[in-house]
Amino acid sequence: MEGDIMHDVAIKQGYEKQLVLVKSQVEALKQLANGQYDYALVAKIPALYWIQKNGWENLHISEQPLLSLEYCYAVPHGKNDLLARMSEGLSAIKATGEYREIYSRWLGVYEKPVFSLWEVLKYAFFIIVPIIIMLLGFVLWSWSLKGKVNRATAHLKDERQRLASIIAGTRAGTWEWNVQTGATRFNKEWAEMIGYTLEEITPVSIETWEKCVHPDDLQKCKDRLEEHFREDTDFYECEYRMKHKNGHWIWILDRGKVASRTNDEKPLWMFGTHLNITERMEAEAARNSINIQLEAQNNELEQVINVTSHDLRSPLVCIEGFSSVLGTSLEEILDILGKEKFSSETKEKLAPAFDRSRKSIDYISKSVAKMGLLLNGFLQVSRLGRVEIKTEELDMNALMSDVLSVFKFKSEEQGAKIEISDLPSCLGDEGQVNQLFTNLIANAFKYSASNRPGIIKISGQKEGNHIVYCVEDNGIGIAQEFQVKIFEMFHQLNPGTEGEGLGLCIVHKIAERHNGRAWVEAELGKGSRFYVSFPRA
Ligand code: ADP
Repeated sequence: MEGDIMHDVAIKQGYEKQLVLVKSQVEALKQLANGQYDYALVAKIPALYWIQKNGWENLHISEQPLLSLEYCYAVPHGKNDLLARMSEGLSAIKATGEYREIYSRWLGVYEKPVFSLWEVLKYAFFIIVPIIIMLLGFVLWSWSLKGKVNRATAHLKDERQRLASIIAGTRAGTWEWNVQTGATRFNKEWAEMIGYTLEEITPVSIETWEKCVHPDDLQKCKDRLEEHFREDTDFYECEYRMKHKNGHWIWILDRGKVASRTNDEKPLWMFGTHLNITERMEAEAARNSINIQLEAQNNELEQVINVTSHDLRSPLVCIEGFSSVLGTSLEEILDILGKEKFSSETKEKLAPAFDRSRKSIDYISKSVAKMGLLLNGFLQVSRLGRVEIKTEELDMNALMSDVLSVFKFKSEEQGAKIEISDLPSCLGDEGQVNQLFTNLIANAFKYSASNRPGIIKISGQKEGNHIVYCVEDNGIGIAQEFQVKIFEMFHQLNPGTEGEGLGLCIVHKIAERHNGRAWVEAELGKGSRFYVSFPRA
């Protein structure tokens, strides 16, 4: 508009020739809205008012003012007190925030709100701080996630390493089999076990395995697999032969488990291992054949003992009978000699011959009796190996009181004391276990020390799957070097003592037949402890 402040400013800045003057600011805006000119120089507040009122949405007010003119209030000259009161009032409503409300209400619609630095900071605080916190949280979260991933990766690496070491240590071949497609993966040990490199047998499939399995064993493997697929077994396990590249057969212990199934419960992935057990199988085969031979020899020996014992018995009975006839005849001759009147010279000459004859007959009788005992022993031992064992739970307290009742007289005679503790039950054949303890207790009496009253202690305790019983005495004891030998057949430390040297051999045999053991701990001159073990009930 001609003469207004913007006109002057534009002239001062040298824009006079580009200016088109109009009558009012609203006219300038109207022409601008019609697209007649490029821009209009107007006061911001009235311009906002006219734009809104006329709906000139194609007009845009510049953010930057050409002149920084602010609204102010004025009073007539001399009215300083009024000016002071207005200033005071303005400050008061600014302090309460009312000024901002009034401003927004009347001018805010035209102007963009002007924020103070404090408000900017305040808004920045409320927006930026949560963003920073969120960012920090995110950083921390991703940091901890990274840590977790790193730890899991390290753990996985560790596991892999461990698994690789175990496989290397056990030299196990590993296999992975997709039961549905037949696809397989083998490790290098799997191939090396049958003499190949992995490259040599690649590409692999389940047929690679089938081709190497001994034709006689393949069906057994398939049966075991089927059992596992049907979940009749928790694991698949099969021992079979595979053909080595060199042409010979090796024994494989194959173990595996279905790891996943299809939706309709068919086996999908199965994993397992191969172990070369050829050495074990060969050793087992050798042992089996030795066992068969031993059993045959044993049977033969037992038969020989049996037959010999029986066959020897009749001549023995003859010797016994005829030596007794001889003895009686000798006594008759002596009787006749005593009655008839022979010269004392003749009697003296005959006396040593009669004496020798009597002693010889006596020696023959004793030897025959000893031989009879030995034959009985032989028969007893050989029968032990053949007699069927009837295993049952044994009340050892009852059994022991039975055994001790036989020794009642003996213990009274010797003044020996028997101490018996509570005995755990075991599994065994009553007759045989009774005989074993009878033998041990008889020996404890037999080999008691002459210089002190005998004390025999009987005890028992659980040890793993067995019960170990102990018969302890304070008798003559046994030197270290004989403690194993005394369990052998007919072994006597002092051949003069009564008995045949069979008692401990029988003890040993009975314990062995019950899957137990017999052994001794003794000290010469102090006493012995005989131990026997039986399966626990
Ligand atoms: P036997 O008693 O008939 O000689 P055993 O087989 O019972 O035969 O014993 C073998 C040997 O072990 C005995 O001759 C004896 O020397 C020794 N022996 C066995 N039991 C004891 C014991 N409790 N104390 C000392 N020695 C023993």
